Amino acid sequence: MKESELKKIYNTKEKILIQKEQNLKDNAKKSELNQCPHGLLPDDQLEIVDYKRLYEKFRRSKKTQSVREYLLNQISGNACVYCEKRSGNDTLDHVLPKSNYPYLTVSPLNLVSSCSTCNSKKGATITNLVHPYFDEFNSRKFVSCEIELVCLSSKYHIVTKFNFLSFGNTLEEQRLSQKLQTTFNELELANRYSEYCVPIINENILKWQTELNLRGTQSLVDRLKDDLKALQSQYSNNSCVVPFYESLINSLDNGNISSADFLKIKSPTYI
Ligand SMILES: [Zn+2]
Repeated sequence: MKESELKKIYNTKEKILIQKEQNLKDNAKKSELNQCPHGLLPDDQLEIVDYKRLYEKFRRSKKTQSVREYLLNQISGNACVYCEKRSGNDTLDHVLPKSNYPYLTVSPLNLVSSCSTCNSKKGATITNLVHPYFDEFNSRKFVSCEIELVCLSSKYHIVTKFNFLSFGNTLEEQRLSQKLQTTFNELELANRYSEYCVPIINENILKWQTELNLRGTQSLVDRLKDDLKALQSQYSNNSCVVPFYESLINSLDNGNISSADFLKIKSPTYI
Protein backbone atom coordinates (compact mmCIF):
# COMPACT_ATOMS: atom_id res chain seq x y z
CA MET A 1 0.00 0.00 0.00
CA LYS A 2 1.23 3.49 -0.86
CA GLU A 3 2.31 5.80 1.94
CA SER A 4 -0.38 8.39 1.15
CA GLU A 5 -3.07 5.70 0.99
CA LEU A 6 -1.94 4.26 4.31
CA LYS A 7 -2.12 7.66 5.96
CA LYS A 8 -5.57 8.33 4.52
CA ILE A 9 -6.99 5.02 5.76
CA TYR A 10 -5.39 5.47 9.16
CA ASN A 11 -6.94 8.92 9.50
CA THR A 12 -10.40 7.63 8.63
CA LYS A 13 -9.93 4.85 11.19
CA GLU A 14 -8.58 7.03 13.93
CA LYS A 15 -11.89 7.30 15.80
CA ILE A 16 -12.42 3.53 15.73
CA LEU A 17 -8.87 2.95 16.92
CA ILE A 18 -9.35 5.38 19.80
CA GLN A 19 -12.54 3.51 20.68
CA LYS A 20 -10.59 0.25 20.61
CA GLU A 21 -8.02 1.76 22.92
CA GLN A 22 -10.83 2.67 25.30
CA ASN A 23 -11.96 -0.98 25.20
CA LEU A 24 -8.43 -2.04 26.03
CA LYS A 25 -8.45 0.35 28.98
CA ASP A 26 -11.81 -0.94 30.23
CA ASN A 27 -10.72 -4.58 29.95
CA ALA A 28 -7.35 -3.86 31.57
CA LYS A 29 -9.08 -2.13 34.49
CA LYS A 30 -11.30 -5.18 34.97
CA SER A 31 -8.21 -7.34 34.64
CA GLU A 32 -9.71 -8.96 31.54
CA LEU A 33 -7.16 -8.16 28.85
CA ASN A 34 -7.86 -11.51 27.20
CA GLN A 35 -11.38 -10.23 26.39
CA CYS A 36 -9.93 -7.92 23.72
CA PRO A 37 -10.77 -9.52 20.37
CA HIS A 38 -7.95 -10.93 18.24
CA GLY A 39 -7.28 -10.04 14.64
CA LEU A 40 -8.10 -7.20 12.35
CA LEU A 41 -11.10 -4.95 12.70
CA PRO A 42 -14.24 -5.86 10.71
CA ASP A 43 -13.99 -4.50 7.15
CA ASP A 44 -10.37 -3.61 7.80
CA GLN A 45 -8.53 -2.29 4.77
CA LEU A 46 -5.26 -2.37 6.65
CA GLU A 47 -3.42 -5.64 6.92
CA ILE A 48 -1.04 -6.70 9.68
CA VAL A 49 1.90 -5.63 7.54
CA ASP A 50 0.38 -2.13 7.18
CA TYR A 51 -0.08 -1.83 10.93
CA LYS A 52 3.53 -2.88 11.43
CA ARG A 53 4.59 -0.14 9.02
CA LEU A 54 2.51 2.36 10.99
CA TYR A 55 4.39 1.31 14.11
CA GLU A 56 7.75 1.73 12.38
CA LYS A 57 6.65 5.21 11.37
CA PHE A 58 5.58 5.90 14.95
CA ARG A 59 8.95 4.68 16.20
CA ARG A 60 11.05 6.69 13.77
CA SER A 61 9.05 9.84 13.29
CA LYS A 62 10.42 12.98 14.89
CA LYS A 63 6.83 14.11 15.45
CA THR A 64 6.09 11.20 17.77
CA GLN A 65 9.47 11.23 19.53
CA SER A 66 8.09 13.07 22.55
CA VAL A 67 5.23 10.53 22.89
CA ARG A 68 7.77 7.72 22.69
CA GLU A 69 10.02 9.31 25.29
CA TYR A 70 7.02 9.91 27.54
CA LEU A 71 6.03 6.25 27.30
CA LEU A 72 9.58 5.07 27.97
CA ASN A 73 9.58 7.11 31.19
CA GLN A 74 6.10 6.22 32.38
CA ILE A 75 7.02 3.73 35.07
CA SER A 76 10.18 3.76 37.21
CA GLY A 77 11.96 6.32 35.03
CA ASN A 78 13.03 4.48 31.92
CA ALA A 79 13.35 1.11 33.64
CA CYS A 80 11.98 -2.03 32.03
CA VAL A 81 8.46 -2.49 33.43
CA TYR A 82 8.98 -6.24 33.70
CA CYS A 83 12.51 -6.76 35.10
CA GLU A 84 13.42 -3.17 36.18
CA LYS A 85 16.67 -3.25 34.22
CA ARG A 86 17.80 0.29 33.66
CA SER A 87 20.17 0.19 30.75
CA GLY A 88 19.22 -0.73 27.23
CA ASN A 89 15.54 0.10 27.66
CA ASP A 90 15.10 1.57 24.26
CA THR A 91 12.26 -0.64 23.12
CA LEU A 92 8.52 -0.30 23.51
CA ASP A 93 6.80 -3.59 24.14
CA HIS A 94 3.25 -4.29 22.99
CA VAL A 95 1.43 -5.61 26.06
CA LEU A 96 -1.00 -7.34 23.72
CA PRO A 97 1.20 -8.53 20.84
CA LYS A 98 0.84 -6.68 17.55
CA SER A 99 0.65 -9.89 15.54
CA ASN A 100 -2.59 -10.95 17.29
CA TYR A 101 -3.94 -7.47 18.02
CA PRO A 102 -2.84 -5.44 14.99
CA TYR A 103 -5.35 -2.63 15.68
CA LEU A 104 -3.52 -1.94 18.98
CA THR A 105 -0.16 -1.60 17.24
CA VAL A 106 0.11 2.16 17.70
CA SER A 107 -2.10 2.49 20.76
CA PRO A 108 -0.10 4.28 23.52
CA LEU A 109 -1.94 2.33 26.23
CA ASN A 110 -0.66 -0.87 24.68
CA LEU A 111 2.96 0.30 24.64
CA VAL A 112 5.27 -0.02 27.64
CA SER A 113 8.95 0.56 28.26
CA SER A 114 10.77 -2.75 28.10
CA CYS A 115 14.32 -4.04 27.82
CA SER A 116 15.05 -5.91 24.61
CA THR A 117 15.40 -9.26 26.47
CA CYS A 118 11.94 -9.08 28.07
CA ASN A 119 10.49 -7.84 24.81
CA SER A 120 11.87 -10.77 22.84
CA LYS A 121 11.12 -13.41 25.51
CA LYS A 122 7.50 -12.36 25.83
CA GLY A 123 6.73 -13.31 22.26
CA ALA A 124 3.33 -13.25 20.67
CA THR A 125 1.48 -16.02 22.43
CA ILE A 126 1.11 -14.90 26.01
CA THR A 127 -1.90 -12.83 26.92
CA ASN A 128 -2.42 -13.80 30.55
CA LEU A 129 -0.02 -11.10 31.71
CA VAL A 130 -0.20 -8.11 33.96
CA HIS A 131 -0.75 -4.70 32.41
CA PRO A 132 1.82 -2.40 34.03
CA TYR A 133 -0.37 0.72 33.62
CA PHE A 134 -3.44 -0.79 35.27
CA ASP A 135 -2.52 -3.69 37.54
CA GLU A 136 -1.34 -2.48 40.92
CA PHE A 137 1.10 -5.18 41.96
CA ASN A 138 4.22 -3.77 43.55
CA SER A 139 2.54 -3.15 46.91
CA ARG A 140 2.71 -6.93 47.35
CA LYS A 141 5.87 -8.92 47.72
CA PHE A 142 6.03 -11.82 45.31
CA VAL A 143 9.75 -12.34 44.67
CA SER A 144 12.11 -13.93 47.17
CA CYS A 145 15.81 -14.67 47.01
CA GLU A 146 17.77 -17.44 48.70
CA ILE A 147 21.52 -17.20 49.05
CA GLU A 148 23.86 -20.13 49.31
CA LEU A 149 27.62 -20.24 49.55
CA VAL A 150 29.07 -22.85 47.27
CA CYS A 151 32.64 -23.97 47.86
CA LEU A 152 34.84 -24.61 44.84
CA SER A 153 38.54 -25.36 45.41
CA SER A 154 38.31 -23.90 48.96
CA LYS A 155 36.98 -20.56 47.63
CA TYR A 156 33.35 -19.65 48.20
CA HIS A 157 30.95 -18.24 45.64
CA ILE A 158 27.58 -16.63 46.31
CA VAL A 159 24.81 -18.48 44.52
CA THR A 160 21.39 -16.82 44.36
CA LYS A 161 18.06 -18.52 43.75
CA PHE A 162 14.97 -16.44 43.03
CA ASN A 163 11.46 -17.74 43.61
CA PHE A 164 7.94 -16.58 42.96
CA LEU A 165 5.73 -16.28 46.07
CA SER A 166 2.03 -16.84 45.36
CA PHE A 167 -0.45 -14.66 47.19
CA GLY A 168 -4.16 -13.93 47.33
CA ASN A 169 -7.04 -14.37 49.75
CA THR A 170 -9.66 -13.23 47.27
CA LEU A 171 -10.35 -14.55 43.78
CA GLU A 172 -9.26 -11.24 42.28
CA GLU A 173 -5.93 -11.35 44.12
CA GLN A 174 -5.39 -14.97 43.11
CA ARG A 175 -5.90 -14.03 39.45
CA LEU A 176 -3.35 -11.25 39.78
CA SER A 177 -0.93 -13.66 41.46
CA GLN A 178 -1.37 -16.14 38.59
CA LYS A 179 -0.74 -13.46 35.97
CA LEU A 180 2.38 -12.29 37.77
CA GLN A 181 3.61 -15.87 38.00
CA THR A 182 3.05 -16.36 34.26
CA THR A 183 5.01 -13.18 33.60
CA PHE A 184 7.79 -14.28 36.01
CA ASN A 185 8.07 -17.71 34.38
CA GLU A 186 7.69 -16.72 30.74
CA LEU A 187 10.29 -13.97 31.01
CA GLU A 188 12.60 -16.39 32.87
CA LEU A 189 13.09 -13.82 35.59
CA ALA A 190 14.42 -16.31 38.17
CA ASN A 191 17.51 -17.08 36.08
CA ARG A 192 17.90 -13.56 34.79
CA TYR A 193 17.72 -12.04 38.28
CA SER A 194 20.54 -14.39 39.34
CA GLU A 195 22.53 -13.14 36.35
CA TYR A 196 21.82 -9.52 37.30
CA CYS A 197 23.21 -10.21 40.81
CA VAL A 198 26.63 -11.30 39.54
CA PRO A 199 27.92 -7.77 38.72
CA ILE A 200 26.40 -6.42 41.99
CA ILE A 201 28.36 -9.03 43.96
CA ASN A 202 31.55 -8.52 41.97
CA GLU A 203 31.45 -4.75 42.33
CA ASN A 204 30.86 -4.82 46.08
CA ILE A 205 32.40 -7.95 47.56
CA LEU A 206 35.83 -6.49 48.37
CA LYS A 207 34.22 -3.46 50.01
CA TRP A 208 31.92 -5.72 52.09
CA GLN A 209 34.80 -8.00 53.10
CA THR A 210 36.92 -5.02 54.16
CA GLU A 211 34.06 -3.71 56.30
CA LEU A 212 33.60 -7.13 57.91
CA ASN A 213 37.32 -7.50 58.53
CA LEU A 214 37.75 -4.06 60.08
CA ARG A 215 34.50 -3.56 61.98
CA GLY A 216 32.72 -6.91 62.28
CA THR A 217 29.44 -8.48 61.14
CA GLN A 218 27.07 -6.01 62.79
CA SER A 219 28.76 -3.08 61.09
CA LEU A 220 28.51 -4.79 57.70
CA VAL A 221 24.83 -5.61 58.34
CA ASP A 222 24.15 -1.94 59.23
CA ARG A 223 25.92 -0.77 56.11
CA LEU A 224 23.93 -3.20 53.94
CA LYS A 225 20.70 -1.97 55.58
CA ASP A 226 21.61 1.63 54.67
CA ASP A 227 22.40 0.56 51.10
CA LEU A 228 19.09 -1.31 50.95
CA LYS A 229 17.17 1.78 52.04
CA ALA A 230 18.76 3.80 49.26
CA LEU A 231 18.04 1.07 46.73
CA GLN A 232 14.39 0.83 47.81
CA SER A 233 13.86 4.36 46.55
CA GLN A 234 14.94 3.23 43.08
CA TYR A 235 13.76 -0.37 42.85
CA SER A 236 10.56 -2.17 43.83
CA ASN A 237 10.39 -4.99 46.40
CA ASN A 238 10.10 -7.38 43.47
CA SER A 239 13.21 -6.36 41.59
CA CYS A 240 16.32 -8.55 41.82
CA VAL A 241 18.16 -5.96 43.93
CA VAL A 242 15.88 -5.61 46.99
CA PRO A 243 15.25 -9.34 47.68
CA PHE A 244 18.98 -10.01 47.18
CA TYR A 245 20.04 -7.42 49.76
CA GLU A 246 17.33 -8.57 52.19
CA SER A 247 18.50 -12.17 51.90
CA LEU A 248 22.16 -11.22 52.31
CA ILE A 249 21.37 -9.15 55.41
CA ASN A 250 19.29 -11.99 56.93
CA SER A 251 21.91 -14.62 56.18
CA LEU A 252 24.65 -12.57 57.88
CA ASP A 253 22.39 -11.52 60.73
CA ASN A 254 21.19 -15.01 61.66
CA GLY A 255 24.56 -16.65 61.09
CA ASN A 256 23.54 -18.74 58.08
CA ILE A 257 26.61 -17.22 56.47
CA SER A 258 29.50 -17.12 58.93
CA SER A 259 31.96 -14.25 58.77
CA ALA A 260 34.79 -16.76 58.20
CA ASP A 261 33.02 -18.15 55.11
CA PHE A 262 32.03 -14.69 53.90
CA LEU A 263 35.69 -13.67 53.86
CA LYS A 264 36.47 -16.66 51.64
CA ILE A 265 34.10 -15.46 48.89
CA LYS A 266 36.08 -15.03 45.74
CA SER A 267 35.62 -12.26 43.22
CA PRO A 268 34.69 -12.48 40.42
CA THR A 269 31.86 -14.76 41.33
CA TYR A 270 29.71 -16.78 38.94
CA ILE A 271 26.19 -18.08 38.96
ZN1 LIG B 1 13.26 -6.39 31.15
